[in-house]
Amino acid sequence: MIDTCRLAGRTPLADSPANPPMKGALAAYLTMLVRVSRWHLISVLIVMVLYSLTEGMGFALLLPTLQVAGFNLTGQGEAGRYAALVSNAFVAVGLRPSLILLLGVFVMLFGLRTVLGQMQNVWTYAVQQEVEHHLRRRLYHAIADANWLFVCRSRTSDFTHALTSEISRIGNATNLALVFTGEVAIGMLYMAIAFALSAGMTALVLISGAFLAFAFRGRTHAIESQGEEVSATNKSLYAATIEHLQSLKAAKTYGAEARNFSIFSELSADVARANVDGTRQQAIATTWFELGSVVILAVVLFVSIQILAVPPASILILLLLFARVMPRIMSGQYHYRAFVNALPSFANLLDIETRCAGAAEPAVHPHDRLSLTRELAADGVSFTYSEGRVPAVRDLSLVIPAGKIVALVGPSGAGKSTIADILMGLVAPDSGTLRLDGRPLGPESVRGWRDRIGYVAPDTFLFHDTIRANLKWARPDASQDEMLAALRQASAFDFVAGLSDGLDTIVGDRGMLLSQGERQRLALARAFLRRPSMLILDEATNSLDSENEGRVLDAIESRRGELTVVLIAHRLSTIRWADLIYVVEGGKVVESGNWSSLSALRDGRFRALWEAQSLTV
Ligand code: ADP
Repeated sequence: MIDTCRLAGRTPLADSPANPPMKGALAAYLTMLVRVSRWHLISVLIVMVLYSLTEGMGFALLLPTLQVAGFNLTGQGEAGRYAALVSNAFVAVGLRPSLILLLGVFVMLFGLRTVLGQMQNVWTYAVQQEVEHHLRRRLYHAIADANWLFVCRSRTSDFTHALTSEISRIGNATNLALVFTGEVAIGMLYMAIAFALSAGMTALVLISGAFLAFAFRGRTHAIESQGEEVSATNKSLYAATIEHLQSLKAAKTYGAEARNFSIFSELSADVARANVDGTRQQAIATTWFELGSVVILAVVLFVSIQILAVPPASILILLLLFARVMPRIMSGQYHYRAFVNALPSFANLLDIETRCAGAAEPAVHPHDRLSLTRELAADGVSFTYSEGRVPAVRDLSLVIPAGKIVALVGPSGAGKSTIADILMGLVAPDSGTLRLDGRPLGPESVRGWRDRIGYVAPDTFLFHDTIRANLKWARPDASQDEMLAALRQASAFDFVAGLSDGLDTIVGDRGMLLSQGERQRLALARAFLRRPSMLILDEATNSLDSENEGRVLDAIESRRGELTVVLIAHRLSTIRWADLIYVVEGGKVVESGNWSSLSALRDGRFRALWEAQSLTV
């Protein structure tokens, strides 16, 4: 029903604090991750540990291999002792560490490592998808649960952006976080081996690494803020894309294609700039980090050889070790920063969710399937869209008797549609009460009441699907006969029967393949199909020719007494046969009666409207 939201007062969600609250986003993210994907996460972590172990074992085999190749490790400090330890382990299980055996074990370990690596990839991806799926559902639910006024005040594209682009950024961040964890696991394992070989040299490397990480704190913050900018520019581009595509027809008729193009192009450039800036920040950080690491390694080597006098074999192994661990540390810190860069998307998502939750409608009570048997009454109801604006409805009192056809007429902007929204429980009055058969209709019962209403908006909404699917959307259990009957009532049967695919005709994007009048009749059929207790038609026949309008009105007329109808119509001829007419002006009822009593009032407002439309009694 998004299309039925009258646009006035819509604001981007970005009007909220420019920087969504980052504090706590990481903790909230990690909690969500563990809750949503516990089992896959455990599997990934186990596989990561096994993967690191196979790497570590492969590495441990290097020492005996060197020995078998003729390298004498005796007297080479820790390296010699470890080589002997690994050889003894082979002997203990009855194997002689020959070259063939060692190479065979290498191949096996490599094979196992490949399999584990692939399992890790698949499960990491599964965690990513689980997180995205969970967040999409959670956000969609929060948006759909929010009250109508909140939705009207928000910008739809902000929701779309969050549901698609932001969530996929968070999914990628999840992947990065897991890859980073794997890198940390392997890094730690290598460090443990290095520590066993030379505690002094490894401690030096670790201390210098910690110093380097400390020195990079500021860069990480900058990358985080930059991530917020990427989020914000993407959001604006999304909003423009949706608005421009939806108003393409208007843009063409106003010759505004070039103007729109330049707006779009500027926003697109902003997105590109923000992304390149992000990459540049990353590149600068990586460059400094790598240079720092190399300097540290050189210093460590110097100290190890000249001061700690670490034996040459240990130096060789440690060099090999650091050569393997360094790229991992590099990519680990890169992945960590990329994760931090994407974290603002999660903060943004939390922000939207919190706002939606703050505006959530109470859940439907299972027993709240209400219906109208006597009357729906508004008592002194007032409503203002937002602070500072004049009330759209003020001190309104009216009665909609059950089974009657009631019309609301008045100039544009008088408050008729707002009154319909209030009668449907879509917006809650600021003051006054709405009573259904004498019972106040509070926030807890409005959803139950809405289930009993058939509503046709001025701008009908159809899905890009078949006519059948569009009808079934209103009532999934409707039979073919019921659908055809509803089409007849809405004067839509003939045109649907004339289509080559009948009920299975695709109506196009938002029903674009049909005429405005045909769309309106389908929307009417959809409302009839719901078997509502009350039918609200808001300018719902204004695009029909008088013949089709007459047929629709006849269908409504034929159910006089059993169906309560609220008709909002600009054309006064449409409401000629209403049981009760309310003339609305400035958000209140200024006159009421039936056609003849109202038109008899010489200086009445109804008569003025009627004369303006040059009608005759
Ligand atoms: P009508 O249906 O009689 O043309 P409306 O109920 O649409 O009148 O509008 C009544 C008043 O409320 C108008 O002043 C209009 O500008 C204002 N209004 C309607 N919808 C919104 C909205 N979503 N946000 C803010 N103001 C609104």
